[in-house]
Amino acid sequence: MAQVKQEETLKKIVSHAKEYGFVFPSSEIYDGLGAVYDYGQNGVELKNNIKRYWWSAMTLLHDNIVGIDSAIFMHPTIWKASGHVDAFNDPLIDNRDSKKRYRADVLIEDEIAKFDDKIEKEVAKAAKRFGDSFDAALFRTTNPRVLEHVAKRDELHNRYKAAMEANDLAELKQIILDYGIVCPISGTKNWTDVRQFNLMFKTEMGSTADGSMNVYLRPETAQGIFVNFLNVQKTGRMRIPFGIAQIGKAFRNEIVARQFIFRMREFEQMEMQFFVRPGEELKWFAQWKEARLKWHKALGMGDEKYRFHDHDKLAHYANAATDIEFRMPFGFKEVEGIHSRTNFDLSQHEKYSGKKIQYFDPELNQSYTPYVIETSIGVDRMFLSILCSSYEEQALDNGETRVVLHLPKQLAPVKACVMPLVRKDGLPDKAREIVNMLKFDYACQYDEKDSIGKRYRRQDAVGTPFCITVDHQTLEDNTVTIRHRDSMEQERVAIADLPALIDKEVSFKELLKKLV
Ligand code: ATP
Repeated sequence: MAQVKQEETLKKIVSHAKEYGFVFPSSEIYDGLGAVYDYGQNGVELKNNIKRYWWSAMTLLHDNIVGIDSAIFMHPTIWKASGHVDAFNDPLIDNRDSKKRYRADVLIEDEIAKFDDKIEKEVAKAAKRFGDSFDAALFRTTNPRVLEHVAKRDELHNRYKAAMEANDLAELKQIILDYGIVCPISGTKNWTDVRQFNLMFKTEMGSTADGSMNVYLRPETAQGIFVNFLNVQKTGRMRIPFGIAQIGKAFRNEIVARQFIFRMREFEQMEMQFFVRPGEELKWFAQWKEARLKWHKALGMGDEKYRFHDHDKLAHYANAATDIEFRMPFGFKEVEGIHSRTNFDLSQHEKYSGKKIQYFDPELNQSYTPYVIETSIGVDRMFLSILCSSYEEQALDNGETRVVLHLPKQLAPVKACVMPLVRKDGLPDKAREIVNMLKFDYACQYDEKDSIGKRYRRQDAVGTPFCITVDHQTLEDNTVTIRHRDSMEQERVAIADLPALIDKEVSFKELLKKLV
């Protein structure tokens, strides 16, 4: 039942995103292309605002973080050095009856999540029964049914973890069989063996007559930062600790593309590599974990929607890793990864390129290969989390329903819409005057079509924080009504006061100040 509701919520969000110009399926008139999407007129604004928030938080607030923009195509040896050619694989499994393909690790992780659901249900049931006197922590450690679920979850979890660490594909299949995991489509256990599948897209560069070269579309932006480490460090005279930030497209040939823009084959990442002294990486890891969570929470979408998830299987390059997960309609899901990547990448590039990639630390009077903390967040996943968290079908006192996006105001595609009450008596000209006053600082719209009520609804649906209405009184005393999106309250204010009023709510400055 809950599952059906979750799917319905996501479906509604997907169709709302399309109807209001946020996200369109790619190549739609040709029936689309799997897991590729286009951003529409409102989507691109929201996306740009997310990127601006991240970029400013990294490069404006830290005098030791600078940005770059490296090319998508890179020398193919880079991907050999980084380990992606040999190890950027997902374990895939097919169901012979439905002919559907799955990630074996995801099937098992979903099974583990079922135990977690059972535990949470027991806790919720007991909380209802015992009321205020309920001690949830005590219940979790003593209730026999909870303990039984915990034991079963841990058993599965440990077996899964061992199989992943040993890269034991046969054992992954055995777990799927032992736990009776069935294909959601066919409902059968008629599984193939588990195989590894490399996620990188390959293409050719140069004409064949000249001898073409196989190149990859980058599966992460991070390597563009590592191979520019010396360039930036030297030309920027950067001293450790320092960071390099980058926003750009990444490509992964995902086996199973589902859940809208959560898992795409072409997506955008915002990554920052922070270079530190060897031995200090775990201290910085802890610091960046907190800083990144703070960045998310400052948007005011609700602190309870976030949690950390520490990794069981560390990537080949990491000595600590965690995800920041966000509560989507389909459960808590990763939005950002924070990884302590050791000195793996720089050492590998030193080895494969034959160039010395080290840093001379004047304070220690010695050279070393810096260690790296990475923060890596998907723009599209962030976009989805904001959309899911903001979407509301709100029942109104008059019996109607309005669909409203409670977007963080600073990120809203349109900040204010100015509307003449009627299309005559000079009101449109006055409204245009106000747009012309505001448009240099804020994305504004002008709307004179349909009733005021309808115009408000249209702006609610795209998350516009302010609607400004020009009426006959405006011509007399230069005041307007300003309507607030979330409360729907209206107040009469002087036109001259509009910029300050809007600025207080939508300025990036106020948002960024929460981070320092
Ligand atoms: P997942 O386990 O969900 O495949 P990942 O752990 O492989 O993700 P990372 O390699 O850590 O992801 O990438 C960093 C971030 O990039 C993720 O937190 C996510 O926000 C984003 N990302 C990764 N893959 C995709 C994708 N296919 N579509 C959209 N965003 C993605």
